[in-house]
Amino acid sequence: MTIDMASPSFLYGPVPSRRLGYSLGVDLLPFKTCSMDCVYCQLGGGARTTVRRRAFIPVETVLAGIENVLRRGGRVDAITFSGSGEPTLHPGLGRLIRAIKRKTAVPVVLLTNGSLFTRPSVRKDAAAADIVVPSLDAATEDAFRKINRPHPGLSAAAIIEGLAAFRRHFHGRLWLEVLFVKGINDRPSDLRALKKAIARIRPDRVHLNTIVRPPAESWARPLGRRDLEKIRAFLGETAEIIADFKKPGRRTRTKDLPSRILDFVRRRPETAERIAASLGASPEAVERAGRRLEKDGRLRLVRLNGRVFFEPGAAAGKK
Ligand code: SF4
Repeated sequence: MTIDMASPSFLYGPVPSRRLGYSLGVDLLPFKTCSMDCVYCQLGGGARTTVRRRAFIPVETVLAGIENVLRRGGRVDAITFSGSGEPTLHPGLGRLIRAIKRKTAVPVVLLTNGSLFTRPSVRKDAAAADIVVPSLDAATEDAFRKINRPHPGLSAAAIIEGLAAFRRHFHGRLWLEVLFVKGINDRPSDLRALKKAIARIRPDRVHLNTIVRPPAESWARPLGRRDLEKIRAFLGETAEIIADFKKPGRRTRTKDLPSRILDFVRRRPETAERIAASLGASPEAVERAGRRLEKDGRLRLVRLNGRVFFEPGAAAGKK
């Protein structure tokens, strides 16, 4: 395997994140390798789920790529494991996090769906991170199946127990994220079960979210701000609605812009404005480049809630 260390495909960003500042993303998995198939997934739907851990990429290769980015300088506030699926499916995760922590003081963050926290080996790997952000969208089995469409071997009750066990031994920051889809996991019975689960897990914070990017299923609808406010009040003072990020980014050369836009949207669909903030380009330049990419089929423009998102077009792989 040849890896371009100037811009290896398993690293992206640093991108501005609502919670983490400038975050260098680490993606250990082939596209959409996950134990779930959430209706809101921004990677698309219909992929086969898996709970089998596999070393998709060597730990040493990833570590060398991260070191290379850090050596180049520039602002990195966090090194974040997320990307194309569920990062705990890589069995080298713990070893990799520990190796990163020997090289840099930049906090390591793990975004996870929490589904494998039922296993002590996965909890041990995750505990090496400074901040762990598991998602827990539903605490009842029926809502869990509807919203997350998990691998058949998974259950909400076992995941909640796994997260509670993790909390007992993890001394870093634990932020639980709940994403609401209208009519799926926002019924009063869902919220009561969720509140109980939160009391059992004892996260430092609970981040409330809803659909803000084109979801896997076009019928999946977001909650309004007012509904989220009510849920926040019900769940208590650790709960907060995660706000939008608004800081300027670093500059990108105009000639690199089309390829950087395509790299960005391969990870997740995004608005021209946020892509511009992330890449340090002007929104006008991103829109201009976006229109050219749309013309030759490499980009698609998708409307959601009055906002226009860029996502890869049918010819996205062409140079
Ligand atoms: S949203 Fe995350 S957990 Fe859900 S299917 Fe997509 S990658 Fe997996």
